[in-house]
Amino acid sequence: MIKAITGTKDIFAPEVKRWHYLENLVKRIFENFNYNEIRTPVFEETALFARGIGESTDIVSKEMYTFVDRGDTSLTLKPEMTAAVVRAALEHSFDKQQNLNKLYYISPMFRQERPQAGRFRQFHQFGAEALGSESPALDAEMIIIAHDIIAELGLKNFKVKINSLGIPASRENYKAKLKEYLEPHFDKLSDDSKKRFNSNILRIFDSKDETDQKVMKDAPLLIEHLDDESLIHFDEVKKYLMSANVNFEIDPKLVRGLDYYTHTTFEIISDSVGSQSALCGGGRYNKLAAEIGDRDIPGVGFAAGIERILLACENENAFQLEEDSIDVYVVRIDKDLNQKAYQSAYQLRKLGLLTEVDYLSRSVKAQMREANKLNSKYVIMIGGDEFQKGNFLLKNMKTSEQEELSINNLEKVYTRIRG
Ligand code: AMP
Repeated sequence: MIKAITGTKDIFAPEVKRWHYLENLVKRIFENFNYNEIRTPVFEETALFARGIGESTDIVSKEMYTFVDRGDTSLTLKPEMTAAVVRAALEHSFDKQQNLNKLYYISPMFRQERPQAGRFRQFHQFGAEALGSESPALDAEMIIIAHDIIAELGLKNFKVKINSLGIPASRENYKAKLKEYLEPHFDKLSDDSKKRFNSNILRIFDSKDETDQKVMKDAPLLIEHLDDESLIHFDEVKKYLMSANVNFEIDPKLVRGLDYYTHTTFEIISDSVGSQSALCGGGRYNKLAAEIGDRDIPGVGFAAGIERILLACENENAFQLEEDSIDVYVVRIDKDLNQKAYQSAYQLRKLGLLTEVDYLSRSVKAQMREANKLNSKYVIMIGGDEFQKGNFLLKNMKTSEQEELSINNLEKVYTRIRG
């Protein structure tokens, strides 16, 4: 037996209906904020992610699905969307056609992580990128959209955390201060943190190692070393959030793993998904476009994990879907009326009714049982004396009322059901 690869999963009914519900809600909210969907290829040149996300990040250094194709090109299955969206914007000169481009996506992503509850190797994200403006209103808009989607799904047990990484110059100054603080503690640090000391020092804040955490408790904080420009930007973001009634906490240790952030970073975390608590994360990345292309385009965005959000929804019983039902089940009474039954079912489907018919040569009784199992609102019965008269029976399954209608007038069924 060949099985699905570890860390991937099949999504099918009834669970897939929860995916549809979430995806429809996501699309509706993004479209209300005037975002257009963007779809990019599943794989890109490896260099895009290596340069865009940063060589020293966990994603690039140990999680990417990278392979060499038959043309000797190194390709990578996308581990995130931001670099791909910015690549598309540069390639198609979105910025030259329109100053501001607001884009959203729903897409699979691939990272070779150790699978556990809420962590997969193929997972799915929805998210957005707004390219072309430095306005803090857009930083806030990202947080508001992510918040609204999560709240509209019915989740309650979540927190919005925000921080500012400031402009690169003040971050560089701060990194020097952090280095100075950490130097005397270097020998105590975990091996991972020792590596990060040189490659990505801010990430030491993310360490789960107890000794690292003790050392970092008294570390100087970036937010205390921000320049005026960065502080003003951050204040504006906070004001917009407050005016949208979005509750948030400032978490000065929220650095996030990626190299390209400037100014705002944020995360929404939940207690309803076990150890993998981040439902979504994002921030501003004014330096990314120049990193992978030939010009600056300021940007801000976020990505949210669909599997984790659906898991949180399940654990909190956040939303409930209506029981599945169909409009009509076509019961064939006489075996030689197969053609008529399939033709009638097809006509009802063309009229826009959710219709089912028997394909398994079931008895009339078994067909009725199936209609009940499918929660069919109506049944039409083709055959018997009625058929001799050119008619069929329409039965309302709730009231058991029956009506004889002309076989040439299936539109009547539509009127009875949809009114
Ligand atoms: P990131 O791009 O790492 O900030 O991830 C954004 C969101 O995607 C996270 O908050 C998670 O909800 C989700 N996510 C990231 N990695 C995984 C994974 N391996 N499996 C499932 N969801 C993930």
